[in-house]
Amino acid sequence: MHILVTGGAGYIGSHTVKDLVKARHQVTVLDNLSKGWRAAVTKARLIEGEITNQRLLCELLQTVKINAVIHFAASSLVGESMQCPADYYANNVTGSLILLEAMREAGIPYLVFSSTAAVYGEPVEIPISEDHPAIPTNPYGATKLALEEALPWYYQAYGLRYISLRYFNAAGADPDGELGEVHEPETHLIPLVLKTALGQTPEIKIFGRDYPTPDGTCVRDYIHVTDLAQAHILALEALAGGANPSIYNLGNGNGYSVLEVVQATEKVVGKPLPKTFSRRRVGDPAVLVASAEKIKRELHWRPCYSDLHTIIETAWRWHQKNPLGYPKIGIYPGS
Ligand code: UDP
Repeated sequence: MHILVTGGAGYIGSHTVKDLVKARHQVTVLDNLSKGWRAAVTKARLIEGEITNQRLLCELLQTVKINAVIHFAASSLVGESMQCPADYYANNVTGSLILLEAMREAGIPYLVFSSTAAVYGEPVEIPISEDHPAIPTNPYGATKLALEEALPWYYQAYGLRYISLRYFNAAGADPDGELGEVHEPETHLIPLVLKTALGQTPEIKIFGRDYPTPDGTCVRDYIHVTDLAQAHILALEALAGGANPSIYNLGNGNGYSVLEVVQATEKVVGKPLPKTFSRRRVGDPAVLVASAEKIKRELHWRPCYSDLHTIIETAWRWHQKNPLGYPKIGIYPGS
């Protein structure tokens, strides 16, 4: 198939593009490079542009025969979404609706949608399954849920078949060492811990030590980015094979506390790391752990890299080899 991957220069997108190409799909990436990296797209055509640019999308979808879209392009930081909800609605809702409209005009029948555990809000039950109530507590989760709520209507009226994948904490790096996690600014736990290991930041700040968890720090479900990438390929193949629209969680089913992540990193890097405790981060639930039984049962998804050691070890290899992130090629974010 020829797949359009929006946001294919970003962290999860670039790993998925690599695996799509490995699986012999043809790929075109559309990315505005606001968060993505030109150097992360080595095996596909990259078009620099906005998903909100209706003309660009319509022209693209009318000139290139695309069979399916994987839609990653989005704003995805909880804290930022609380500060700038308008940007999140514009990008994640309006932008996605423009994309759906262009797909409808071009008659593209399949969509794999990048969703999030943030749609659930404060958990009332752990592990979280797909039928857990979805009551987001921030605009990021709310905007992803808004699109998920539109999709069944598009299916009913226009026959658009979709699979929505709700990620828990994406982590780790390409086991081949070609791709990794680079955000500017970095806010995610594992890359921040590794930056401390590299001496780029003086210490790890652990947000909160008074949560109702065994060691008082937050528990999260870390899932390797290559396992996430594989799930997108399974979802595409399922849609092409006639599967009905569906929503799936993607997680490990195992929770690790912030302190456990730091300790596992200390083992991988072979030295103790300086750390301090600071106040809770606003909006962090104590525990988020997925039940991913549904996608294992229905699409036979099997995570292969998602034990904590492998996640940290692959990420550490990337960070050691690329301490400054991706090489800056041509026009890049911040230029
Ligand atoms: N965290 C932390 N210090 C940091 C960054 C994150 O203690 O410098 C904690 C954060 O409070 C959360 C967990 O690590 O409990 C994972 O946070 P991250 O931002 O990586 O992912 P999120 O869970 O927000 O998607």
